[in-house]
Amino acid sequence: MTEQPIREALDAAGRVPSDADLETLSRQLNRPVRDVVEIGARCVCGNPLVATTAPRLSSGIPFPTTYYLAHPVITAAVSRLEAAGLMNEMNERLGENSALAAEYVAAHESYLANRAAIGERSGTGAVPEIDGVSAGGMPTRVKCLHVLVGHSLAAGEGVNPLGDEALAAISEWWTKDKCYCVGAWDTESEAPSRDRSRHVKTQEMQDPAQKRAQRAAKRAQREAAERAAGDDA
Ligand SMILES: [Zn+2]
Repeated sequence: MTEQPIREALDAAGRVPSDADLETLSRQLNRPVRDVVEIGARCVCGNPLVATTAPRLSSGIPFPTTYYLAHPVITAAVSRLEAAGLMNEMNERLGENSALAAEYVAAHESYLANRAAIGERSGTGAVPEIDGVSAGGMPTRVKCLHVLVGHSLAAGEGVNPLGDEALAAISEWWTKDKCYCVGAWDTESEAPSRDRSRHVKTQEMQDPAQKRAQRAAKRAQREAAERAAGDDA
């Protein structure tokens, strides 16, 4: 793996989450945020766009998805792209265009470099369980455009080609030079203080260790079936 430089859109001061930022994130996501250690990107008005989560949660669970797209206007716009089938089209292009595929691999490595730096800064340290595992389908597939757009916003332009492309494709609804915050989330009622979205799985919230275990179980089942078929022959 080639060593990638750390690419971050915000400077150290800009990344520090204030109490007001955390409350805004809770309102944007309509659930209390946990384990958010930094702000990955901000609106021109200063509000958070992307929540940065430590690579290991305080519960001890490894957490590969570092950048969580939080701004409702952007998440809704990206969902429209997903619904329109942009991911299928991108996956096809990744299969045909080796230059794009190579840039996407570099984006994956850049993501891992950023995450390692965030782990160091936040005191999480190395998380060997998720070594080489990024998010959103990287390095070979596109499985979640929200993840790629979150990465593009947090890393800045020119790092994730498909995240950049998705950002360009939502310019009808959101552009980084304007504030779209007014009315985008509830600022009146009390901030969410209880997790009401426990059962809503979004942006790869599932524990990768659990996924690995599921895959291993399936593989064992398949191998057992193959052995049984072999015995019959
Ligand atoms: Zn704003």
